[in-house]
Amino acid sequence: MSTGHIDRVLAEVDALAEEAVAFTSHLIQIPTVNPPGELYEECARFIGHTLADCGFETEYYPAEGRPEHTVAHPRINVVGTRRGRSERPVVHLNGHFDVVPAGNGWTVDPWGGQVRDGKIYGRGSCDMKAGIAAAVYASEAIRRAGIELNGTVEISGTVDEESGGFAGVAWLAEHRRLSKDRTDYVIIPEPLYVDRICIGHRGVYWFEVQTRGRIAHGSMPFHGVSAIDHMGLVLDRMRRELQPKLAARTTDVPVIPAGARHATLNVNGINGGQPVDGIQTPCVADRCRAVFDRRFLLEEGFDATKAEVIQLLDDLRRDVPDFQYDIKDLMVVHPTRTPDDSPVIAALEQSIHSVLGRRAQRIASPGTYDHKHVARIAGIPHCVAYGPGELELAHQPDEYCRIEDIVNASKVLALATLDLMRAGR
Ligand SMILES: [Zn+2]
Repeated sequence: MSTGHIDRVLAEVDALAEEAVAFTSHLIQIPTVNPPGELYEECARFIGHTLADCGFETEYYPAEGRPEHTVAHPRINVVGTRRGRSERPVVHLNGHFDVVPAGNGWTVDPWGGQVRDGKIYGRGSCDMKAGIAAAVYASEAIRRAGIELNGTVEISGTVDEESGGFAGVAWLAEHRRLSKDRTDYVIIPEPLYVDRICIGHRGVYWFEVQTRGRIAHGSMPFHGVSAIDHMGLVLDRMRRELQPKLAARTTDVPVIPAGARHATLNVNGINGGQPVDGIQTPCVADRCRAVFDRRFLLEEGFDATKAEVIQLLDDLRRDVPDFQYDIKDLMVVHPTRTPDDSPVIAALEQSIHSVLGRRAQRIASPGTYDHKHVARIAGIPHCVAYGPGELELAHQPDEYCRIEDIVNASKVLALATLDLMRAGR
């Protein structure tokens, strides 16, 4: 790419900053709260109209067939396509437009989209409406600079990332709208700092364990078997035996924060015996259930992760008289990692260096996001997350995104897009 081209694109991003800010504010003013999934259609249409104004063909994809796609809360995704001289490569920028509830503790209106001291405030500002803005105005800057694309830019606004993305990116992937046959590169502008490239995430294994006891009169508990006591044994063994092993395992994937570079386990919830708010009767609990959130490392793999849990439970069955259990898988997300030599990483690294004058850092996320669907269902290996905003501010009161970050991320995305198209020619 010539320096003339680069300078023109960067100048156009600067010139578009005010429009990008207004677009972000407007998006924040549509409270697309999930759950339950408010105002998705209005938000999808607004993004679609803006894309159309920026030279995109737009298509809307209601998530037909998904149970959460209802009349009251339709799940509508939007995809814009802008073709250049050639069809390929296709660079797809994807942002989710659902946001988590505002919660308490705000000192500004969470739905105001207020701009103050170089920051845009509101729920979803950094996670990730500013990211959608950075994607839209990156493409628009290329267009206004008069540079013809050597490929296709696609920008999608999708639903439900915060609740798993099944009616959003997963739906588009299952219906082949996003697939390795038609999509070359995917960049997800999640708020992961303007100089960092996120190359994947750890795995997730949610499972439910039920211990089964035997009911008896509470005044003579020795005649029964307490399922709650047995769940206590499960928790105790997890704490004393499993947790130290997990803490000792470290991944080579550059997960941030560093504490999440180890395998972890959390108890989501526990429920056994009688409801504590109800009228009480003297009974030994014959059932106790708990849900666990095990985050596993790429190096561990799912099979070994699950086998280790079952081993622990089987050991208890061997050691403890009357110990009985069931285990049920609730959700499995395999870890993902973008190949080190992926052109999408190289293009972003180069562009971050050009725009910010510093070296990009490769990171991985402690939790999952829509990358998993792109990698696992669509089968596209060349996917990363890169976008404006700071991860710590996501889901917090007084969430904001710096305007400077939006502008810089937009510049990086524009240059990376052009770079990927040059490489794919
Ligand atoms: Zn997000």
